[in-house]
Amino acid sequence: MKILVPVKRVIDYNVKPRVKSDGTGVDLANVKMSMNPFDEIAVEEAIRLKEAGTAEEIVAVSIGPAKAQETLRTALAMGADRAILVETDDEVEPLAVAKILKAITDEETPGLVILGKQAIDDDSNQTGQMLAALLGRPQGTFASEVTVEGDSVTVKREVDGGLETVKLAMPAVITTDLRLNEPRYASLPNIMKAKKKPLDTKSPADYGVDTAPRLKTITVGEPPVRQAGIKVEDVDALVAKLKDMGVA
Ligand code: AMP
Repeated sequence: MKILVPVKRVIDYNVKPRVKSDGTGVDLANVKMSMNPFDEIAVEEAIRLKEAGTAEEIVAVSIGPAKAQETLRTALAMGADRAILVETDDEVEPLAVAKILKAITDEETPGLVILGKQAIDDDSNQTGQMLAALLGRPQGTFASEVTVEGDSVTVKREVDGGLETVKLAMPAVITTDLRLNEPRYASLPNIMKAKKKPLDTKSPADYGVDTAPRLKTITVGEPPVRQAGIKVEDVDALVAKLKDMGVA
């Protein structure tokens, strides 16, 4: 079985985003960029399935600027076998990403596509669901456990009320949640080896996908500054204060 893992290059999760002064977006100049954390979990899960003998090949794909090659090299250093960069300088919205991934899935015919549940830059949480819909395939989103048995995959899903277990016929689409696994770090020898692994470069046009935006960002702003807290003498004073504020 082949596994396709889409990985997005996003602002590093340790960086505090700065909003551009004209409110048109987040300032990405000289900002550290990394693989979306949920996608690292997806790569790790694919590698574990390969190590268990369930999968034979892992293909990483990224849609983004030339620099997204670095993200793909990280996936290759972790253990992916080859990579596809769909190069574009446009900001590609989830629907267009899903259409490109559908075309690649049709070409590559993976048994599983494992995506992150959301990209931490746009927080859309849409791509995996849209891809499954476009492919007409079963989906197991927010996975915290994945078990492949024969032609089906059992996914434990993190839902509001607890855990839901679903059994999907493969080929299927999975999106990862935080507790699925702890991604490995790439070792130095593997980082060196990754430089020689195959990386194909394509364009959205190669897949017949128009990446023109469907959404218009009106404005981007900083979150409101948190008010300073106050200290109260005792519980009675706390309750009185809460009543005063209308929250108790
Ligand atoms: P989103 O729907 O934007 O929150 O993204 C969900 C998941 O879709 C991510 O965790 C990635 O696995 C995948 N994805 C989204 N955008 C891209 C992209 N430009 N390139 C590769 N994968 C992507």
